[in-house]
This record gives sequence, C-alpha cells and structure tokens, in this order.
Amino acid sequence: IFIGMGAGIITGALLQLLFDDSGDLRFSIFGFEFSTYTFLVDGIFSTVGAIFIASLKMLVVPLVFISLVCGTCSLTDPSKLGRLGLKSVSLYILTTAIAITLAIGLGLVVSPGSGVSMPTDATYVAKEAPTFSQVIINMFPTNPIKSMAEGNMLQIIIFAVLFGVAMAMTGDAGKRLGAVFEDLNTIIMRLVTIIMNLAPYGVFVLMAKLFSTIGAEMLGSLAKYFFLVIVVLILHGIVTYSVMLKLATGLNPVIMLKKMRDAALFAFTTSSSSATLPVTMETARNKLGVGKSVSSFTLPLGSTINMDGTAIMQGVATVFIAQVYGVDLTLGDYIMVVFTATLASVGTAGVPGVGLIMLAMVLQQVNLPVEGIALIIGVDRLLDMTRTAVNITGDCMVSCVVAKSEGELDEAVFNDPDAGTKEE
Ligand code: ASP
Repeated sequence: IFIGMGAGIITGALLQLLFDDSGDLRFSIFGFEFSTYTFLVDGIFSTVGAIFIASLKMLVVPLVFISLVCGTCSLTDPSKLGRLGLKSVSLYILTTAIAITLAIGLGLVVSPGSGVSMPTDATYVAKEAPTFSQVIINMFPTNPIKSMAEGNMLQIIIFAVLFGVAMAMTGDAGKRLGAVFEDLNTIIMRLVTIIMNLAPYGVFVLMAKLFSTIGAEMLGSLAKYFFLVIVVLILHGIVTYSVMLKLATGLNPVIMLKKMRDAALFAFTTSSSSATLPVTMETARNKLGVGKSVSSFTLPLGSTINMDGTAIMQGVATVFIAQVYGVDLTLGDYIMVVFTATLASVGTAGVPGVGLIMLAMVLQQVNLPVEGIALIIGVDRLLDMTRTAVNITGDCMVSCVVAKSEGELDEAVFNDPDAGTKEE
C-alpha cells in the first residue's frame, strides 16, 4: 500500500509536469483522437479509483450491522453494553476536546492569519448546520431500511444494538439466528480481506489522480495555516494518543502506531472514516487484538462521532479566520469554540469534506464571517486526508483502552509484530 501510494504520487506529479494541457501527447485509436493526460487521469484513474472507493463503501453498512448484531447478542452481561457506551463516548469526547484545545493553543502562539490580507471576493454560502437536539433526534431511526439505504451510521448502530439485545433475550430463536449472523460475519470479513488485497492498486490510482491535479502554488499565503494544521495533527496523533494509551493501559504505543499504518494510509487516500471502517475494524481485531464485542461497537461509533483531526482543523481555522478578519476573540469565545467544535465533531459524518461544512457552525457561534471558509477551501483536500488518518487512529486508540478495561484485549496479538499480516 505504501509503495502504491508513493508510486501514485510520483505518477500524478509527473503527469502534471509533462502532459498538462500545453505539452499533452495526443494519440489516436480507430480514428478517435485521445490526449494522454485526459485518457489516464479522467479515464483510467478516475474510473478505477471510483470503483475502489465504491467497493469499500459497499462493505460498510452490512459490516456494521452484522458485526454489531453479533457483538451485542453475544453479550451475556446486559450492563456491559451501557458501560461500553459510556466509556467510549466519554473517551471520544475527551480526546476531541484535547485536540481542539491543542489546536487553538498552538494557533494563538503561531498566529497563522497575521499578515494575510483580507479577501474582497471571498464567497461561501454556509449550509445549515443541524442543532444539537436535531443531532440527537436524528440518531433514532424511523425506518431501519431507509437508514441502511442512506448509510446513516448512528441510526444503524441503534437499530443493530436493539436487534442484538432482543436476540439475546429470545432464547433458542436468538441462538439460531446468532449462529447465522456469526457465519455472515465471517464471510463479510473475508470480503474485506479480498478487497484489501487490491488496496495497493486502488491507492495508486487515487493518488495518481489527486496529484495530477493539485499543485504546490495553491499554498501561497495559506502555507502557515496549512503546516500548522499538519503539525498539530501529527502532535495529537503521535503524542496525545501515545500518552493516553500508555497511561490507561500500560501498553507500548509505538506498537499501536506501527500497526495503524495500513488503516491510516487508507484513510489518507479515501478521506473518509466511514469508507475506511472495514480496514479499521480488521486492524483493531486482527492486529491490535481488540475483542469482537468491543470493536464492533466502538469502531462504527468512533467513525461517526469521533473526529479529533477535524476538530483540530476547525480550531486552527477559527484562529486563522479571526486573525485575517481582525476580530479579537475572548477567552469565553475560545471556550465556546472548544464546546461547539466538539459537538460539531459528533455531528460530522465520516465522509470527505464535511468537516469544512461543520466549521460554519463553529464560526457562527462566535460571530465570525462564514465566508472565511472560502479562504481555506483550496487547501482543504490534503488536510482532509491527513485529518481522516488521525480520526481513525483515535478510534483505534480508544478501542484499545476500552477493550483493555473490559478484559477484552488480547495482549499476545497486540504485542505480536506479525499479527494479522499473514493470510489465514
Ligand atoms: N473526512 C473526515 C472523515 O471522514 C471528516 C472531515 O473532517 O471532513 O473522518
């Protein structure tokens, strides 16, 4: 996967350098004229990349539903479900609050917006962000089939948990159906492995496509903002998570971070926690030794509500936009930002670019101009990729902590450097 990514970046950059509009190489087949650049980028790379992402997304809904039903119906202790929920939600919120505080703190020290001139032509029309009560109400499905068709993860989680609990309470019928779900689960995980075998090629085309279209010149006055977000993401992803894992479990964080590599690369190329979920789940179970009943609950939940990377971007962006527009925010405003961005992260779906839409909600909360988003939109794609990698690393770290506290972490698997890398 790593080689696929490197080769993709180089291919994309070369294509852009050599065959961009002016220097394009044209050829004809059966009398039809083609341009090499368009043929490769818009034809081959786009198509194969889209098919690859579609195959990942295809797995998400069945995987979440089936594994969560399996996880809940096998819970013998009913209070465990409540404990799992409470522990994971509190940890997710805590890590997000730390992330945004770090982002604002460093933002204030570095001042990414100072010296950047205020745009005169910035336009951005904010989509309406949902209110907190709407976010809560929307978690409950009215029609589970519709939730599945729309891929509404929180609604699927609620339905699957209720379904699993009912199965556990139903005696024989529940046991019979439980066996069927276990088989389905094995098969769907097999499908994940099959698609993961194609990952290097998928990652290659996605990277080649992306890097044939983006250039370094877009950074310009945003360089300080861009690099600050990256630095805070790396800091949080490496330092905060390592400290938390070490303190809470005593496990070696370096092992965890190394094992996150494949999933993080997936997140980086797809920019979507949700599309990466099959890989995150595979990593947590097979490489980190997180028990099924924990991982099938914490990870789908995390990929939907835990967005530390997104909160970091929002924190730095708020400081940046306030500085560009010359607005002085008070300490109270910043506390408000921490609070809203943490909630916004809960409401952010794990798909590309939503973090930026939710930023509107944060900005409005402290009366900053929402048009400010237009300033940073140009560099958001690369930041989205990086923050998604942080988002899913956070999900796995919290899963390890919760699993350890529930006695469901297989430390032999966690400590085995080769765990989960061999084909069964
Ligand atoms: N792309 C991010 C994710 O899926 C969400 C965002 O920040 O836009 O985790």
